[in-house]
Amino acid sequence: MPHNNQIHLQDFMDLSLDIVCVISTDGKFINVSQASKRIWGYDREELIGNYFINYVAKADRIETKEVEEQIKNGREVTHFENNYIHKDGSLIPIIWSAKFEPKKGLIFCIAKDNSPIKKRDIEKEEIIQSSHDIINGTQNLIWCIDKKYQLLDFNKAMKTQFQDKFNVQLEVGQNMVDFPPDHQEYINRWKSLYDQCLAGETISVEIAPSEHKNVEPSWVHANLTPIYEGDAVKGLVCHSTDITEKKKIELELQKQNDLVQNILKHIPMGVAVNKISTGNQILINQEFSNTYGWPESELTDVNSFFKKVYPDPIYRKEISEMIIEGIESGDINKMRWNEIKITTKKGQSKYVDAKNIPLTNQDLMISTVMDVTQKVNNKKKIANALEEKQNILESISDAFYALDKNLNFTYVNESALKSMNKSQNDLIGKNLFEEFPQLGNTVFKEFLKEVKRTGKPSQFEFYYKYYDLWFDESIYPSRDGYSIYYKDITKRKLITEALEEAYEKESQILESISDAFVAVDRNFNFTYFNKKAEQLLNITREEALGKNQWDLFEYAKGSIAEQEYNKSIQNNETRTFDFYNERLNIWLNISSYPSKNGLSIYFRDITQEKKQRKELERLNAELKSYTQKLEQSNKDLEQFAYIASHDLQEPLRMVSSFMTQLQKKYEDQLDEKGQTYINFAVDGTRRIRQIIIDLLEFSRAGTQNQKLEKLDLNEELAEVLSLHHTNLNKYNINLEVEDLPELVYTKTGIRQLFHNLIGNAIKYRRKEGQANIAVTWKDHDEEFLFEITDNGIGIDEKYENKIFQIFQRLHSKSEYSGTGIGLAICKKIVEKYGGEIWLNSKLGIGSTFCFTIPKNIKP
Ligand code: ADP
Repeated sequence: MPHNNQIHLQDFMDLSLDIVCVISTDGKFINVSQASKRIWGYDREELIGNYFINYVAKADRIETKEVEEQIKNGREVTHFENNYIHKDGSLIPIIWSAKFEPKKGLIFCIAKDNSPIKKRDIEKEEIIQSSHDIINGTQNLIWCIDKKYQLLDFNKAMKTQFQDKFNVQLEVGQNMVDFPPDHQEYINRWKSLYDQCLAGETISVEIAPSEHKNVEPSWVHANLTPIYEGDAVKGLVCHSTDITEKKKIELELQKQNDLVQNILKHIPMGVAVNKISTGNQILINQEFSNTYGWPESELTDVNSFFKKVYPDPIYRKEISEMIIEGIESGDINKMRWNEIKITTKKGQSKYVDAKNIPLTNQDLMISTVMDVTQKVNNKKKIANALEEKQNILESISDAFYALDKNLNFTYVNESALKSMNKSQNDLIGKNLFEEFPQLGNTVFKEFLKEVKRTGKPSQFEFYYKYYDLWFDESIYPSRDGYSIYYKDITKRKLITEALEEAYEKESQILESISDAFVAVDRNFNFTYFNKKAEQLLNITREEALGKNQWDLFEYAKGSIAEQEYNKSIQNNETRTFDFYNERLNIWLNISSYPSKNGLSIYFRDITQEKKQRKELERLNAELKSYTQKLEQSNKDLEQFAYIASHDLQEPLRMVSSFMTQLQKKYEDQLDEKGQTYINFAVDGTRRIRQIIIDLLEFSRAGTQNQKLEKLDLNEELAEVLSLHHTNLNKYNINLEVEDLPELVYTKTGIRQLFHNLIGNAIKYRRKEGQANIAVTWKDHDEEFLFEITDNGIGIDEKYENKIFQIFQRLHSKSEYSGTGIGLAICKKIVEKYGGEIWLNSKLGIGSTFCFTIPKNIKP
């Protein structure tokens, strides 16, 4: 269905975004797709039947005609560009594809609106142009190099720069690290940057000027970026900016800053700058810390500064309130404070003038401070001096009058008038002795005469009996007569008298004290010598006073006394020592006290005391040697017992074994009596053996230097009880033991002690009924008290001491076996380290053996 197909073709043409058209051989539009409206502004109806060339831009018509001819000759055209005239008159760039169909005599064309592509191309070109302009227009240098430092590309500025500065005509391929040796140092710097960048690093640095003299110094900031090809760096691009101006400003600023710092450092004024908001210190100069007497490192913020410099909290509050008030007022005049007292780290007081300068918009407070301690001190000194002078003047003006040659008053000052109870009018022109006739009877008159005679001034004290007053009078001869100053010194006189009286009294006291007392001046001349001293030293006060001590007691020179006196004076200290006076054969205990003028020396006779002390010492020594002898003889005795018991065992063993032999061999031949005798003899040797063993034990107890150690008594007692285990069970004895303490003692000692006492408690148990034994203890302050109590046969009170002696027994051997040594051993063990042992017992009721062990025994 060709018709249908035709419709479809038309639809297709109209749907196409590009223009699809058919042109006849004579160049007329046969058919045009609807896109023509959108691109050229013409409906197809307007175009069909019209020559296409009329719609082509005039400038393109010749070329278009030529191409049309080529198409008709069979050339297939693609990408042919020309411009069409839009219905509104504007030119539209079109890109064509066309083909001639000779059978039909028709040209089939597809035309595309080329405007967007054209536009893009133009833009691209513009961009390239403008970036080219930028690159070449900029003052910054831009260049690329490859891995061999060879220049790949560079901008205009770079070219100019090299030409001007280094006289180098840059060209692509130029080796950028190969320049005249003049610039080697600078080039080397660049080379190391290139190397870094070629190693893959992106670099941004400031480069200082070349040190080369002929080149104007310039600072540059350079950015070096590696250029990659795949993963490998193939070169780099460098972009450098001249920052010389910026650097100059920076250096200038730095210089200014240094200058300010330098000024601050050397200015003879303390300066500190703080942030107002935080109080933190930003800057402080040496003088500031010197003035306040605190190291810079400790003046970090305002708060701690106040605490340090004004340690007194009340004063600090006052000062800080004053300062805050000043700052808040905003009035510069209220921000300066003079002569403020501050405290240095060493605690010294100083005075400063301080001033605050707030720079509120910069949040800064500048504080300046000056040390005015010297000024304040001088002020004080001047004030004191003034006061002193005032006093002098006042005292001089105390009382003064002048007389002419005839002894008539010519001048009388206020205080003289006051003291005389007269007025000027009463006295001026009047004669002194007529006005004060009583003066004529005093020494005053004599002195006045003397001054008149000699023409020399005179000063004297005199008693004015009429007024009962003492005066200190000075008479100066003058051209016209006499100037007379006087002072009422009655009070001073009274005080002196009182002092003298007191001295008198004191010396009476010195006389009355029982100790001998003498005083010497610094040259050791006697200035005082009391009665007791007279008696003791056998010399009178008259003989001694004024004499030199070492002249009088020459034999004491060079003795301990002289040394001690010298020390007392030199060190200004009291010295007390004993001194044997060989001349008088007495011992003196001397105390020497330094005084203003020399020494005060007290001494007493201690000859008797010395004798007694010596006697005591002799007795002590005697006692000591006696004790030593006793200890020695005890040791000897123990040694003897030890050796004897040792040596006795051997023959005893022999007797006992022969007895046993006798019994064995002659058993049949001996009658009953003979057998009994042998039994006795065997038993006897057995007992002697036991005695010897016990004796050996006794001699050992407390003598051998066994080790002292910390012992847990519970463990020790358990050991002991295990030995008595059989008997305790056999006799069904009820044993109660308290939890025992730890203490320091010898292990064997403590075991033997408990062994013997518990052994006895078992042996001497009650004959009938339940036997009880208890081990208890008490903690006394300095010792432990142990008690071993039984309810056995008991002991008569009268034997309570006896049983602790060796070989003392209360029973016959047939009644109770034993040697009478056990308790003696106990006593020896306990007493060795200062303990005690005793017994509380009632016959037939029971016994308590008590012993103590001191706590202070050290292992
Ligand atoms: P021994 O037990 O070998 O005779 P000791 O020195 O141990 O010697 O005791 C001396 C004496 O003290 C004993 O003979 C005994 O008469 C008496 N005695 C000791 N302990 C007790 C006790 N717990 N109860 C009664 N008597 C005692």
